[in-house]
Amino acid sequence: MSVMVPSRTPALITPGQQALDSALHQLGQAAEELGLDDGLRTMLATPRRSLTVSVPVRREDGSLDVVQGFRVQHNVSRGPAKGGIRFHPSTDIHEVTALAMWMTWKCALVGIPYGGAKGGVSVDPTVLSTRELERLTRRYVNEILPLIGPEKDIPAPDVGTDEQTMAWIMDTYSVNAGYSVPGVVTGKPMTLGGSLGRTGATSRGVQIATLTALGRSPEGVTVAVQGFGKVGALAAQYLADAGARVVAVSDVSGAVHNSSGLDVADLRAWVTETGSVASYRHADALAHDELLELDVDVLVPAALEGAITASNAPRVRARLIVEGANGPTTPEADEILAAQGTTIVPDILANAGGVIVSYLEWVQNMQAYSWSASEVEVRLRDLMEGAFSEVKSVAAARGLTLRQAAHVIGVGRVAEAHQMRGLYP
Ligand code: NAD
Repeated sequence: MSVMVPSRTPALITPGQQALDSALHQLGQAAEELGLDDGLRTMLATPRRSLTVSVPVRREDGSLDVVQGFRVQHNVSRGPAKGGIRFHPSTDIHEVTALAMWMTWKCALVGIPYGGAKGGVSVDPTVLSTRELERLTRRYVNEILPLIGPEKDIPAPDVGTDEQTMAWIMDTYSVNAGYSVPGVVTGKPMTLGGSLGRTGATSRGVQIATLTALGRSPEGVTVAVQGFGKVGALAAQYLADAGARVVAVSDVSGAVHNSSGLDVADLRAWVTETGSVASYRHADALAHDELLELDVDVLVPAALEGAITASNAPRVRARLIVEGANGPTTPEADEILAAQGTTIVPDILANAGGVIVSYLEWVQNMQAYSWSASEVEVRLRDLMEGAFSEVKSVAAARGLTLRQAAHVIGVGRVAEAHQMRGLYP
């Protein structure tokens, strides 16, 4: 038996099911390459624990909303589960499961002692007041409390959540424990035990991955970034700082383009002021889809899953795609792009900087100690560059794409941990 990708009626597939199908497809390919037996394949395809909760939220007008929340621990064979929490209206159990599975392979690939998890709430955080968001976060955390803890499962920010969300999680957990437990979440504010370098860590990792993949000076290299959020905005900034020309960026409200290069710092200030890249003064408006199809050297998808599909992949002209987002390229698009000669630095490698520095934050919390920004940066760079070089060697030795090689390494390490531990009872 191979890893089963369930058969679904195409018109009824949700983005979450599409993401899970992609993750299962990638696992299936790696399991085949590694020659894993059927039992182990099934185990790796199945999350260890999945929790769905109802989260009642009192709105400012006194009414009561009830939203669904999830926490999935895909695998804990190499250490505590680790993974972000997403607040987004289309989040469902399938998406959270896929994201948890990718976390498992990512942590194994970069060699940090964690399993993979993810959490999510099906809600649009942009329509909630700060007080509503706080109530929602605290109630959701209370519902998933039995699963999380510094030795069990450590959340972090993802789409729609930030340092403030992590502070509320840390406080809710600590109030229940009766003492402060900073190690229960990462991506916290510095004042609560956050780590220097965590805010920009995923983006720094994207920059390192891009420069390593280019293998030449980034001076004048043209870049388009889809998604100008926590990951995309700083990835654009760090790439511009390194000498690249960021010519287009987008967010959920629009896309902008300037062939002479955008002033990323000025654009970030514009977004802080107005909430969106749309109508930025020093650039032309662009349709969302056009950004993905620009004739650029590097495309950084840094928004959501399923951005590059079989329908737009033939029109993608970037020579290099560096996946800041998780799961932005479907398996069908992957094949089309490979045939076109496009190099893809896969999500589980390209965006691993976030979980690497989350790990460093957790280690500091567990030791009640803090490291300098340069210590954090050196460790991040070492782990990113080491993982990239391993992926390149495995790809070359086995004739695989970088994504296939990354999965072979990640899945292989988790499979080995299972085999060494044996099965209880
Ligand atoms: P975020 O909420 O801060 O930003 C997401 C951005 O994407 C926003 O600017 C939003 O407007 C934009 N967006 C949404 N739909 C879009 C669309 N159709 N077209 C263009 N832009 C769109 O989230 P984030 O933390 O930056 O996460 C982005 C991606 O990176 C996600 O896939 C996430 O899982 C992944 N990731 C995040 C981290 C992290 O540390 N935050 C780490 C690893 C991976």
